[in-house]
Amino acid sequence: MSLLEKFIQKIKENNPNEPEFHQAVEEIAESILPFIEENERYQNKKLLERIAEPERIIMFRVPWVDDQGEIQVNKGYRIEMNSAIGPYKGGIRFHPSVNLSILKFLAFEQTFKNSLTTLPMGGGKGGSNFDPKGKSDAEIMRFCQSFMAELYRHIGPNTDIPAGDIGVGSREIGYLFGMYKKLANEFTGVLTGKGLEYGGSLIRPEATGYGVIYFVQNMLERIGESIDGKSFVISGSGNVAQFAAEKAIELGGKVLTLSDSSGYIYDENGIDEEKLEFIKQLKNEKRGRIKEYTEQYNDAQYFEDEKPWGQKCDIALPCATQNEIQKEDAQKLADNGVQAVVEGANMPSTSEAIHIFRNSGMLYSPGKASNAGGVATSGLEMSQNSLSLNWSREEVDQRLKDIMTDIHEQCVKYGKKGDEIDYMKGANIAGFVKVAEAMLAQGVV
Ligand code: NDP
Repeated sequence: MSLLEKFIQKIKENNPNEPEFHQAVEEIAESILPFIEENERYQNKKLLERIAEPERIIMFRVPWVDDQGEIQVNKGYRIEMNSAIGPYKGGIRFHPSVNLSILKFLAFEQTFKNSLTTLPMGGGKGGSNFDPKGKSDAEIMRFCQSFMAELYRHIGPNTDIPAGDIGVGSREIGYLFGMYKKLANEFTGVLTGKGLEYGGSLIRPEATGYGVIYFVQNMLERIGESIDGKSFVISGSGNVAQFAAEKAIELGGKVLTLSDSSGYIYDENGIDEEKLEFIKQLKNEKRGRIKEYTEQYNDAQYFEDEKPWGQKCDIALPCATQNEIQKEDAQKLADNGVQAVVEGANMPSTSEAIHIFRNSGMLYSPGKASNAGGVATSGLEMSQNSLSLNWSREEVDQRLKDIMTDIHEQCVKYGKKGDEIDYMKGANIAGFVKVAEAMLAQGVV
């Protein structure tokens, strides 16, 4: 049995029934175990074993009363994964699929991603199996308040700083912050993604999507190309997808698709700024379905219960959820000669899909590198909160661009393979080195 197989077997034994967590650890271990073997400094320290074990897991009951007066009970979680380089930092997800396996995979990935941003942030993630779809504003508020009634005692501006993720946007962050402030009796930067009126940062809502496109720009510039004239297939129509589309359009790209969990829309004329504004209102304010786009724009087509990966394009951006690109989808992308797959979502591609990308010679960037702009800008929000000042839109945007360029450079440094770059290997090793050095310095704690 190889070193990798032995390592993964142990992870599976210690963490039974957690397939997403096993998948995330295996992807990292594939690059890190050989790296450790080549570097004596990191040997016999059980570094990866320690990083794969959460420092703390908090699980709690979230009871709340719905609009009919019925009592509902959900599960709440916070995974405090690793604090070697800074306080725990990572989003909160509200989605019916949320469980320990999904949150552990996200917190594990977050540790490496946060390290790549160059900012002092450890890894964490949290959430609930609560389904926000179809809930009234008052129900969302009561749920958020109940969730925070327990979580507040475990977090703090220097301990653990949650943010948004799937199902948690500015509305939810507002309700969570309000309850934290009331219970802790302090006004601090304990959450990021806050409204501008109470400590939020300009560009934070846009940051993940914009960052993905800045990363694409870096990848293309390295080979002497640009975004202008490239066609994009994007999945999702939430925060990440909307702003990735916005920046791609601004830089001269043509966005052909967006999707939600019911299906996708294809607009052969391209989704322009005006059409994107319609989508933002539809999704963010009316909380409607992507299908309604075709009622407004009759030339566009709607594909029920399908994913957009069969459509021809230059660049594919998965921006919805984990494992949304399976083996057959990856094969379609490769057969269509797609130039790059750049992940906006966390772990949107299965291991088999990644294998196809890497063997077909297309450019491939894992989410931990290309979607790190969101948490990086959360880090900038934390800095502004501790300095008690607000940077301008231009200043935050410039810092975001610089961070994405820095992440790209780290991937190039550690992922060089002849003339090509193995972005996955580069991101994994660069993320690991900083965390490992901090752990070595701090001893066995
Ligand atoms: P949102 O909740 O704003 O949007 C999620 C989008 O993905 C929606 O269009 C949703 O459709 C779709 N989606 C969710 N679950 C599924 C599913 N099981 N199958 C198909 N489609 C699905 O979330 P975000 O845009 O914030 O997050 C998207 C991804 O990006 C996630 O993987 C997240 O972890 C990652 N990410 C987010 C960051 C951020 O700053 N927000 C930072 C870094 C990564 P529907 O409306 O039908 O549910």
